Amino acid sequence: MTGALALLERTAGGVTSASREAVGVARTVADGGAVVGLLVGPGGTGPASGIPVDRLFTVEGPGLTDPSTAQYAALLSHAATQLGVARIVVPGTARGRDVVGRLAVRWAASAATGVTDVTLGEGGSLRITRPVFGGRASETLELPGPRQVFAPKPHAFSEPSAAAAPAPSETIALPDGFDKLPTRGAEGFEPTAGSKGPELGEASIVVSGGRGLRTPESFRLVEDLAESLGAAVGASRAVTDAGWRPSSYQVGQTGRSVSPQLYIAVGISGAIQHIVGMVSARVIVAINSDPQAPIFKVADYGVVGDLFPIVPALTKEIRKQRGLPAGPTGSGPG
Ligand SMILES: Cc1cc2nc3c(=O)[nH]c(=O)nc-3n(C[C@H](O)[C@H](O)[C@H](O)COP(=O)(O)OP(=O)(O)OC[C@H]3O[C@@H](n4cnc5c(N)ncnc54)[C@H](O)[C@@H]3O)c2cc1C
Repeated sequence: MTGALALLERTAGGVTSASREAVGVARTVADGGAVVGLLVGPGGTGPASGIPVDRLFTVEGPGLTDPSTAQYAALLSHAATQLGVARIVVPGTARGRDVVGRLAVRWAASAATGVTDVTLGEGGSLRITRPVFGGRASETLELPGPRQVFAPKPHAFSEPSAAAAPAPSETIALPDGFDKLPTRGAEGFEPTAGSKGPELGEASIVVSGGRGLRTPESFRLVEDLAESLGAAVGASRAVTDAGWRPSSYQVGQTGRSVSPQLYIAVGISGAIQHIVGMVSARVIVAINSDPQAPIFKVADYGVVGDLFPIVPALTKEIRKQRGLPAGPTGSGPG
């Protein structure tokens, strides 16, 4: 069997960047076969325009505006079986990683998440690499065939170039018994309280704040900086434990793992439990008044100084450079 199926996760105006990365990876593992995109839910095929798949399938039905993990797993295994593809690549978002486990059981496939490299192996296997021990080592594993499902680590693979012409759009029917599956609400998922910006796990820029901000009101400085950059907002556990921001903001060992192009740590000391959640960021910038703070050991650029004048000045300059209207420029602990 050849060919690979990539799940395209809808966002308000398109598909997640993790979905585009999944399509690029699907091309690598399709072994000369077709790359098929699956777009779930209402809203037409517009969001998938320019995505370089050979065939584009859409599936619509009741409750598919926000499918549950069980529904995604059923749709993907059904589509892959119908189309005879050997591999499914799921976007490396929080939801995508959740789908991988259930899909692997349902489709009787070998599975992996957090994949940073993949090549074709012997006898239909895939050889994958992924970071372990908080990014301080990596492991290479053989995913045996004939079926594999995996999620790439966000930003580990580049997005493919846009397609010159759109792929023909086809529809796929719902599998038997689909109406009996639990919906998102029945699975007990509740939308997490998040920031206004992009989703933390897949943002290409993350600005995180720590206890150095001193008060929940001052945390606004981090949010203003993030907004000026179109970034997601993260936080250390000191911030979420203190209730300044919800636990969904937490980056680290017991929070979210992020791997953006740029991570800006503001008033964060760099405890190992925080570092393991962000050390795979491509560029790390730290702003901290203590030159001995451990965060500087992993930072590519460090600013030693008081965040209260520095962060508003940085936000102001970024807004100016980007031609954005002047925003709030408060300083000093709130
Ligand atoms: C089992 C376990 C799991 C954990 N999981 C996580 C996790 O997932 N994520 C996580 O983040 N932590 C986690 N922790 C907690 C972790 O050990 C640290 O306590 C926490 O990360 C510290 O947060 P912080 O850096 O914001 O605070 P602090 O360590 O107090 O650091 C604050 C920093 O702000 C700087 N600062 C102060 N004032 C200013 C100023 N005016 N300008 C500039 N800089 C200033 C200080 O120099 C200091 O470096 C975990 C701990 C345990 C035991």
